Amino acid sequence: MEYDSKLMTLTERQKACLDAMGIDVWLPKAALAVENVEQETASAVVDDVAPGKPVAIAEVQPQAEHVTSNADVSALGWEALQTRVAECRLCELHKTRTQTVFGVGNRDADWLIIGEAPGADEDRQGEPFVGRAGQLLNAMLQALGLAREDVYIANILKCRPPQNRDPKAEEVAHCMPWLQRQIQLIQPKVILALGRIAAQNLLQTNTSLGRLRGRLHYIDMTPTPVIVTYHPAYLLRSPLEKRKSWEDLLLAKKTLESAAS
Ligand code: SF4
Repeated sequence: MEYDSKLMTLTERQKACLDAMGIDVWLPKAALAVENVEQETASAVVDDVAPGKPVAIAEVQPQAEHVTSNADVSALGWEALQTRVAECRLCELHKTRTQTVFGVGNRDADWLIIGEAPGADEDRQGEPFVGRAGQLLNAMLQALGLAREDVYIANILKCRPPQNRDPKAEEVAHCMPWLQRQIQLIQPKVILALGRIAAQNLLQTNTSLGRLRGRLHYIDMTPTPVIVTYHPAYLLRSPLEKRKSWEDLLLAKKTLESAAS
């Protein structure tokens, strides 16, 4: 990471978060002499994401026998939306879930973080990104000067797929309207898609994550730019990729700042 004078203003906590992401902070010798950086690490235990094949959601239509419907989702406010999701039985995942994982955070956030699906910890606690991957996500956000409470965090799927398998096309097709309504309600300034499955389903593409990174994307329903980066669970398995992820985060931050100026 190149030296940036702005880093001189980072808090010890932010520098520790950069360290957790594997990003070197270059400081002048004078600064190094007084530096006492808190050590923070994220252990390499992965609990919620595994690589798999992309899904094509446009080909799938809801089935008539479903217990609930999300056909009128565009009229729902936050509370009604959350209730409807909690009661949702539109796909088979309702049979194996402990509870739905609606999403968490600031409903007026500039940043919307979108992952793949709940893992075991998330299914138990009802909140996205609470395991080891969640700890690293928190560190990534803190490195940007953001608290977890500053952003909104959601997943493509609201229910955990058994054994953390990849989402099926029909599951994504049924669940996506819930997320789309959340995006409409939040109206974020930037969307960060974490991992290949989140990115491909959000952008309706089979393009590899590597080729989706490093540029802005747009989805039909919103003018909000979408930036793609690695899932924190993948970063725990492949720590050398943390530098690329940091580049993606800086792109997202720069995009948001440009939109605000
Ligand atoms: S995954 Fe989504 S569509 Fe399927 S039951 Fe859960 S909330 Fe409903």
